[in-house]
Amino acid sequence: MEPIMALLLLLSIGIGICVFWPGYRLRRAIAHAFPSQFSKILRRNLPVYSRMPVDLQLQLKRLIKQFLHQKKFVGCGGQVITDEIRVTIAAKACMLLLNRPTAVYPGLKFVLVYPTAFVAPRVETGLGGGVTHANQTLSGESWSDGRVILAWDHVRNDAITSTQLSDGHDVVLHEFAHQLDSETGASNGVPYLSNRESYRRWSQIFSIEFEALKSAAATNQFSVLDHYGASNPAEFFAVVTEAFFEKSMDLARFHPELFEQVRAYYQVDPRHWN
Ligand SMILES: [Zn+2]
Repeated sequence: MEPIMALLLLLSIGIGICVFWPGYRLRRAIAHAFPSQFSKILRRNLPVYSRMPVDLQLQLKRLIKQFLHQKKFVGCGGQVITDEIRVTIAAKACMLLLNRPTAVYPGLKFVLVYPTAFVAPRVETGLGGGVTHANQTLSGESWSDGRVILAWDHVRNDAITSTQLSDGHDVVLHEFAHQLDSETGASNGVPYLSNRESYRRWSQIFSIEFEALKSAAATNQFSVLDHYGASNPAEFFAVVTEAFFEKSMDLARFHPELFEQVRAYYQVDPRHWN
């Protein structure tokens, strides 16, 4: 073979390896056995895992392996990243992907973890155009530029309360619902749906339920849904997601049409595990 041909052949093989390398590494990561210490963390911090059907448990473990392979965890404010932090957050995030033919948060690159609630600067523009700078203390935050930020003590507390009587709050479910919402390019409480009719029904039912929650919040009436969901449609979808997984019986009982919309979207029925 001519030297130039040999060089071209080597180059093309090299390019081929580069193109397929990430997929190869992902397949290898997924093919590895799920570590037994990860299973212990799942049973301890995600009690519903033990009550899920076996096929969902297997799906969840595969999704967790992919999530941990693709997303980088960064400790902030002195937080050291441990397996417990990585597996607990990945498990909760991946519960939103079960049974759905979807990528694993393709826009997400980093999960930043603080030991406790963190302070985020806020800039607000008033009606007259005046700009206000303020600091807000948060337990979680989702950004469409590929970041989710979480306070570990809140994540761990949600895991503990879900082993007892759920309070309907879960910061990981909340922030990753925002990630799904922002995949469309607009964080407006409407994630990707399957067809035009699905969008029509979703808009119809979510609009009615959002207005009902706004009324409940304004008059301080009890609702299965946290009043924070009345802030805007994006928060409403995140709060509904928390209630769907954490208080599925109550949501189905008091908001059957809303429950059915979310059940059709998430493709699971948490009433079977709760
Ligand atoms: Zn939110």
